[in-house]
Amino acid sequence: MGMIAFSALEIGLILLFGAAHQFRTGVLPVREMLIAAVVANAATAVPMALGYDGVCYIIFNFVALVLLCATGLEYWRCRSESPLLIGTLAGLYVIGGLSFGLCAFALAWDQSWIINGPPNDWAENLNLVICLIDTAAIGALSLGLNQIRLTRRHKKEAETDALTGLFNRRAFFDQANLSQSTASVVVVVFDIDHFKLVNDSHGHQIGDNVLRTFALTVSDAIRDEDVAARLGGEEFGLVLPNASLQTALLVSERIRKRFSERRFLSEGRLFGCTVSAGISKAGRIGDLEAMMVQADAALYVAKRSGRDRVILFSSRDDLRISSSRGERIEPADSTMGTTVDIAPRIAQRKARLTRPH
Ligand code: GH3
Ligand code: MG
Ligand code: MG
Repeated sequence: MGMIAFSALEIGLILLFGAAHQFRTGVLPVREMLIAAVVANAATAVPMALGYDGVCYIIFNFVALVLLCATGLEYWRCRSESPLLIGTLAGLYVIGGLSFGLCAFALAWDQSWIINGPPNDWAENLNLVICLIDTAAIGALSLGLNQIRLTRRHKKEAETDALTGLFNRRAFFDQANLSQSTASVVVVVFDIDHFKLVNDSHGHQIGDNVLRTFALTVSDAIRDEDVAARLGGEEFGLVLPNASLQTALLVSERIRKRFSERRFLSEGRLFGCTVSAGISKAGRIGDLEAMMVQADAALYVAKRSGRDRVILFSSRDDLRISSSRGERIEPADSTMGTTVDIAPRIAQRKARLTRPH
């Protein structure tokens, strides 16, 4: 009977450790848990069978000390997710573990190798009180932690574009507004060229592949504080906080060039794709919508003037656009710049680009 109780307690403690490891890594360490169960059971069964029940208690308490501290350590290692909650949880496990350690110490100190019944000393009483408090507190914290994780997961799913892993359109506006920057931001809108043709010629699945590849090309080219999103279909948006127009142009050109160099396999043959981009004037985050309209208008010019290029909305004159191809940066009012009357286009796009919330 005693053996079954020890075995059940050890398995329970091993499950706690496994759950903590899974919480941190996402993987249940089944092999390690089985090995721990065999070793712990054997370590307590042997002295019990030989009649040394005191030794059995000492070993069990030691096993509990190790397992509970290891469980606490697992939580401690991922405390950045929710420092106060997870830090407290880790602490509770370690305190519980130490109280078992004290029980082992008290028995060993008294050299109680054979005790013929459950031990009854100051350490056992302290352990009982700590276990009662720990069980209630750990239960409540674990529930709260699960709830926080669930809420965060739902939030992440709600703001992520499932195909590319980038932010979706709504999150794009939310995230851009969240960027605390009081300095200026620049908005870039990308649109893959002749994407309908890609779908029609190579199929929707390869089209999806092209979208994912473009998203990766963007992610690889931007900084942590930049916000990239799939605005819909084959259209992507980029907000660059604290960036100059020159920087935005360089980044967009890099993305355009790298993407145009990628090759996709379809029925044994390779094909390439290009992208056009429009860059807004530098502005405040509060003017995001206006900047989107400018970037969109510049994008329209990029499409009309031959695609596979980045067009900068002029900072001098809203109706003047300057273009840049290759790695060169043209000044805003360069003679190479294209001047296009886009006022009707802006009006049309403004109507379409209403904020989605
Ligand atoms: P342009 O160079 O002028 O931008 O021409 P385009 O063909 O890229 O533009 P158009 O708007 O005519 O076509 C966009 C296509 O994108 C049509 C639509 O079927 C496709 N599309 C939208 N969303 C997805 C998607 O999630 N996956 C795939 N594979 N295709 C998509
Ligand atoms: Mg397109
Ligand atoms: Mg489009």
